[in-house]
Amino acid sequence: MFRRVDLDGFEVEAIGRNVARVSYATSLMKKSVLISTTEHLLSALIGTGIDNAIVELDNLELPILDGSARPFVDAILKSGIRKQRRPRTYLRMRREVEIREGDKFIAVYPADSYSVSYTINFPHPLIGRETFSVDLSNGSYFTEIAAARTFGFLHQAEAMRQQGLIRGASHDNAIVLTQDGIMNPPLRFKDEFVRHKVLDLIGDLALLGRQILGRVVADRAGHAMHTALVSRILRDHSLWEETTVDAELAHTPDDTRLAVQPMA
Ligand SMILES: [Zn+2]
Repeated sequence: MFRRVDLDGFEVEAIGRNVARVSYATSLMKKSVLISTTEHLLSALIGTGIDNAIVELDNLELPILDGSARPFVDAILKSGIRKQRRPRTYLRMRREVEIREGDKFIAVYPADSYSVSYTINFPHPLIGRETFSVDLSNGSYFTEIAAARTFGFLHQAEAMRQQGLIRGASHDNAIVLTQDGIMNPPLRFKDEFVRHKVLDLIGDLALLGRQILGRVVADRAGHAMHTALVSRILRDHSLWEETTVDAELAHTPDDTRLAVQPMA
């Protein structure tokens, strides 16, 4: 739940029906109150196993920080996570859902845990075709995903700025691509780009409102397809069931915290 403290505490639920705009980032809107760029924080919350939180902000946009989810994860772990008495509710896929749009593809298949496999094909000498797969039930979010930063082309930045987007963008909060390299090396991972797409997808799928049990596969998708998958799932209740599962299968922040290593 997002709460705008600058607007008398107006609340906007982090749920698919409030999705407003999905060009460069995912934004929520309720009664014309906007919450912009929700995906990195929501990703950090899912990655740390949190499904019940109130996020207060005094502005319409969440801070971009370093362009990854890492600062959010660090802050969450520093403040602590309270385990609640009520068992966690999961959205367990019962049937597959596949969405295709030209050469873009996104799908979710029934599974006992939450895993994501993402493929990108980006025309750039440092990227090209990259695939990354991760199972989120074993703490790999912290080590494999959280630190991956967003990226963009230098020549797109000016156009985006003119649309009023990425107002706070700089070399400190994104990987800036030039024609044949990057302006601000080094990369945190050789395949940081596709890992960031996984980070975004996890954040967008948080808008299902429950943690998911399913195997998600995406190929050249983006925020629009991520949130289209959310809408499709929420619209058709025959695709899934609500369930509580044994704690062994679930995220266990106390254990995963051990896997957290400080950034180099
Ligand atoms: Zn992102």
